[in-house]
Amino acid sequence: MSDPVIILGAGPAGLACAYRILKASQKKVIIIDRAPVVGGIGASFTWKSHTLDIGPHAFHTRGGEPETLIRSLFEKEPKKLIEGSKKVSVYLKDKRFKYPLQVSEALLKFNPLLSIRIFAEFFLTSLFHAIVSIPIENFENWGRKRFGATLFRMSFGDYTEKVWKTKAEKISEKFASEKIQGFKFINLIFKLLRIGGQITEPYYQTWLYHRQGSGFLYHRLAEEIRDLGGEIKLNANIVSIKQQQNQIISLNYQNGEQRFELPCSWLVNTIPLPKFIELLGNHVPFTARYNARKLRYISLMIVYLEFNLKQVMEDHWLYLLENKFLFNRITEQKNLSHDTIEPGKTVLSLEMTCREGDEFWRMSDEELFALAKDDCRNIGFIREHLHSLSDYHVKRIPNVYEIYYKSFDRSAEPTLAYLKEIKNVCTTGRRGLFLQGDMHQSIEMGLNMGNILVQDPPEPQQIHDFYGKYVMYLDAY
Ligand SMILES: Cc1cc2nc3c(=O)[nH]c(=O)nc-3n(C[C@H](O)[C@H](O)[C@H](O)COP(=O)(O)OP(=O)(O)OC[C@H]3O[C@@H](n4cnc5c(N)ncnc54)[C@H](O)[C@@H]3O)c2cc1C
Repeated sequence: MSDPVIILGAGPAGLACAYRILKASQKKVIIIDRAPVVGGIGASFTWKSHTLDIGPHAFHTRGGEPETLIRSLFEKEPKKLIEGSKKVSVYLKDKRFKYPLQVSEALLKFNPLLSIRIFAEFFLTSLFHAIVSIPIENFENWGRKRFGATLFRMSFGDYTEKVWKTKAEKISEKFASEKIQGFKFINLIFKLLRIGGQITEPYYQTWLYHRQGSGFLYHRLAEEIRDLGGEIKLNANIVSIKQQQNQIISLNYQNGEQRFELPCSWLVNTIPLPKFIELLGNHVPFTARYNARKLRYISLMIVYLEFNLKQVMEDHWLYLLENKFLFNRITEQKNLSHDTIEPGKTVLSLEMTCREGDEFWRMSDEELFALAKDDCRNIGFIREHLHSLSDYHVKRIPNVYEIYYKSFDRSAEPTLAYLKEIKNVCTTGRRGLFLQGDMHQSIEMGLNMGNILVQDPPEPQQIHDFYGKYVMYLDAY
């Protein structure tokens, strides 16, 4: 039997890729992950008697192969899966608005002068751009052109700057095409005039969730992989990757005190692209190494607040758009599944982004807890429950969200181009391709890369086409 296919990362993408190769070929597959559990950012962990996600992770039911795969894993125990519709609100100007925005609600709740200003700006901006052609160079230009200044700031601009800690003019307009591509203000107006209009194209309304927490989807997928003969090595720190004549020969990893070397026929990457390039060591030419280092991330801190209460809010997700709040959003995981939280209690997760090592990152858990309470005090319907707050827990997750700086694509291109020079390497998934997608998309990319790798030998042109399909931020792929 030939050497195994080695997959770096046991998140949704890596697991899906392994599953597909094992299902459709005789190849041996080994997954390597430094974490103690499978599931990547979609994993769950235990705190007291609660099972918590890293921010509740609902699997969006978008159809297609990823959904079919997840459902098939639970064919014999369908009650383990719960289905529902998203309940999302935004908190703006001390009021709660349903998301996606309902125009009638917005008009009723906004100050009428503000509503008039938003509409006037929208029409004047549209008229101006119909006459004058101005190139779109960054996210700020993109948003102002589409929505007018006030609505852009209120709906996307301030929030984007808050999450990515970067001015909108320094963010690439390509960020918009991945995050909010289908949102058009004109559709809001059509809706208002009752002539149709669709404002929810990029927003997935329905979800699947494992009764015990998101991570259990991936525990089940990992079981299936092991049953098919795949191996998953956790707590495995990659030390080096050996390369000869543009071909990966083997991989060294460390587990505790012990070191191991694994020979490899193909290497599939799903860990963050810059880290992967770093692990490839001195073989990497200066241009690729230099550019990979320019691909940057924002880190995440979550303060979990436990309440001696059955429920605090109706929503699954509540977005805090304004800068007066330090946290970006609040979620109540119990609203996805009661079974994840101890009966009689609930847990809110408050998410704050920061740069690894900055003043917030260095704060003690107690200080972050105090900040979380401050934000809750500014939200009327949470403030009234603060006397029932019983405990807290803090989690820090470094480098979690890809930052699309203005010219990030010019750094990503030489990085990916270098990987194409290595005969037996490919990269996939959100992390591996420096994308912004959800679990569905990572699973789809894992499965599709798996389809290519079941062939002997895999076709380089198909890998090239794969990058062309998924790496939308590169124009010429
Ligand atoms: C707060 C938050 C909430 C989210 N909510 C949702 C949601 O509700 N629904 C949804 O669909 N998506 C959600 N997402 C997005 C979702 O988490 C990702 O799309 C998905 O996890 C990406 O899967 P992946 O396999 O590509 O990467 P990851 O999940 O990041 O997996 C990568 C794996 O690589 C491993 N790894 C990293 N570095 C190394 C290394 N050096 N050596 C070895 N192993 C390494 C990691 O341990 C991890 O297991 C959310 C993301 C965040 C941050």
